[in-house]
Amino acid sequence: MTEAYDLVMDCDDAVDPGSDYRGPAQIGIADGRIAAFAPELPPHSAGRRIDARGKTVCPGLIDFHVHVYEWVTNFGLHPDEAGVHSGATTIVDQGSSGAWTVGGFDAYIAQPAETDVRAFVSANLAGALKGGMEGTTLHNPGMMRIEAIAEAAAAYPRLVKGIKSHGESGGLSHWGLEVLKMAVEAGERTGLPLYVHTGELFPVDETNRPDPAGVLEQVVPALNPGTTLAHVYSTMPDGIMGAGGEVPRIVHEALDRGIHFDIGHGVNFSFDIARRMMAEGVLPNTISSDVHSDFHAYHDDSRLDYSLCGAMSKLWALGMDLADVVKRATLNPALILGEENEIGTLAPGSRADLTILDLAEGCWALTDSMGEELVVDRRLVPGTVFREGREIAPDRRLLRDVCPPEMRAAA
Ligand SMILES: [Zn+2]
Repeated sequence: MTEAYDLVMDCDDAVDPGSDYRGPAQIGIADGRIAAFAPELPPHSAGRRIDARGKTVCPGLIDFHVHVYEWVTNFGLHPDEAGVHSGATTIVDQGSSGAWTVGGFDAYIAQPAETDVRAFVSANLAGALKGGMEGTTLHNPGMMRIEAIAEAAAAYPRLVKGIKSHGESGGLSHWGLEVLKMAVEAGERTGLPLYVHTGELFPVDETNRPDPAGVLEQVVPALNPGTTLAHVYSTMPDGIMGAGGEVPRIVHEALDRGIHFDIGHGVNFSFDIARRMMAEGVLPNTISSDVHSDFHAYHDDSRLDYSLCGAMSKLWALGMDLADVVKRATLNPALILGEENEIGTLAPGSRADLTILDLAEGCWALTDSMGEELVVDRRLVPGTVFREGREIAPDRRLLRDVCPPEMRAAA
């Protein structure tokens, strides 16, 4: 008897990081799941066929750092605009909600979204209601309750996949490592991984400003293996590279201890720092966007000029192999979420979340946060995505960095 699939996709360039496979493939989808994945499927019937030849087919992209608590935080995007409409089938909100506000995040953001939305809850109770603003009001030790994080994690096991904290000059100047250490304890208590922001963010007590070069030296020893440090190629003087010309020794020590780095592109990504760190083997475990609206306006995304596909295109342009780029935006974040059998893979049995990437050709300038241009002749543009086997055409409204206006939906 021949197999019957709802949909079969014919690919000449399928990338499956889980099995280290890149090449021609046929993907059979049934009941919203990948039923078969092989270079050539045995004789079968298909309710529908999709010809994806000439494009790159990968597991649905996972954007490990977004901000989508729209309207509750001042800087949240719509989850589907950051998600499926930007080519990502799963997105992870980093710290917009906290234990007191995660119920609303579940009911009003995660549940209604077409995108698979997960959250790292903020170490503070309220969440990052004002982005990097009001840091001393919202993120001080009085706003921390380990017990509340544990309760939130128990109440929303599918949603809450980690804890977001900070290791930067503002917090250190006011309360040292107190909040970070409580976040680490909450991680140990719940078994959840931590995601730690780096680079000055909160207002600094200038009478107690830490030496920028010493910030990472303080932060890294407090962290457990499996923690992710964000913004690896950022220009911030108290960030991972710092202001010196050399990669600090502590960066290599962190890698040796099993600490991961994430791109978290955001507003401080630098080609120059990326080149220097990549040359020394300091690579991101995950590639993520850190997309958000303006910190200083309310609900205003008009100046957003970076994205997950843009960050992936940049790493690709800087010399990372495309399969490696895909792995860092699929399998690697899935492993941190503990969802590697479900997403980030093309393995039979997993959820039929896929992203079809156009390797768009033509001269295009990719720009970093310093305004440096990198002129490329190809870049990654999300063509079609599938969520549990359902086809979605991304509107790409926010993809200013990889799409000309005619390829993007109007605001
Ligand atoms: Zn962020």
